[in-house]
Amino acid sequence: MRQLTFLRPGKLEWREVPAPSLQGPREALVRPISVARCDLDRAILYGEAPFRGNFLHFLRNHLPSALGQRGLFRNAPFKGPYAFGHEFIGVVTAIGDGVRTVRPGAVVACSFQVCCGECEFCREGLTGNCTGVPARSMYGFGELGGDWGGALSDSVRVPFADFMLVPIPQGLDPYSLGSFPDNIVDGWRTVGPHLRERPRGSVLVMGGGALSIGLYAAGIAVAMGASRVTYVDPDEGRHAIAAALGVKETLARAPEQIRPEYDITVEASASVPGLSAAIRSTRPGGVCTSVGIYYQQQTPMPLLAMYGTGIRFVHGRVNSRQCMHDMMPLVESRQFRPELVTGLSAGWDDAAEALLDPAAKVIITRPE
Ligand SMILES: [Zn+2]
Ligand SMILES: [Zn+2]
Repeated sequence: MRQLTFLRPGKLEWREVPAPSLQGPREALVRPISVARCDLDRAILYGEAPFRGNFLHFLRNHLPSALGQRGLFRNAPFKGPYAFGHEFIGVVTAIGDGVRTVRPGAVVACSFQVCCGECEFCREGLTGNCTGVPARSMYGFGELGGDWGGALSDSVRVPFADFMLVPIPQGLDPYSLGSFPDNIVDGWRTVGPHLRERPRGSVLVMGGGALSIGLYAAGIAVAMGASRVTYVDPDEGRHAIAAALGVKETLARAPEQIRPEYDITVEASASVPGLSAAIRSTRPGGVCTSVGIYYQQQTPMPLLAMYGTGIRFVHGRVNSRQCMHDMMPLVESRQFRPELVTGLSAGWDDAAEALLDPAAKVIITRPE
């Protein structure tokens, strides 16, 4: 089968590899039809992970292919070649004898984190920390995630089909939901559960780092009826996306005088000033969720401000499978429109080039 393979920053290549086969009664094979580029994929392709903020980033923008060929990225944790892509919707093509919840032909979202559904963490909803498989088991991350293949392939093996696959209800467009298993639910978990606890709460999103997650969070907050949504990002193009999602207040940077006035804050800037602004903007008893990835050994935090306000601070990976389940009612309501974040939708054969596009979200599709 064909598999899109990450070689190095700026370079993806189609390769011919053996197709996966069912290895047990609880497994399924899925043919991806809508694959979204994750915010982390974008950083990897742009050579920003884990070098964000240092001079290699600047150099790479000027000499991308030369730098890659000279091996200056050889210490990156995302070392090619590996099968690329992990956010996807697909069609089930084969199931083992023990699979009960899906049938061949079903359109499904697949957890990008491989998870069993039965271990202690899975039962608690912490499906990103499943102990039924090796730690960090994921599609599309090479050595870091293990040998599970990638979503930009003709076929993907799903080891715990009844748990990992979430059927997409009839009438919903699978092509607009390519990012659902990861970045969309990552945006959702920063605001959704907290707005359910505090309906009409106010929301601040510090965007511009985890590009699509910040936008999804802002759009979901609007869709869930937040009383006020403020989106901060230096990029005007993304202000326009936020406005299309219904955000009324967009700012290029955090206000100079920061007051602890938001019930819910989201740190998606992946920057220390953004992290500080999000935390200091959170009102007493509020919650701040950080989705940015900080590669430096130590990251300064305004702990004295937090001591004064007593906020909850959450930092860590999304739990893909659990959050898909929790967010599905909002997806079905169609009040949130993720397609407004998609800057480029391209066909399967154009994926290697399209995935390098600077848009906040790129989705690669092919017919069912
Ligand atoms: Zn991802
Ligand atoms: Zn598990």
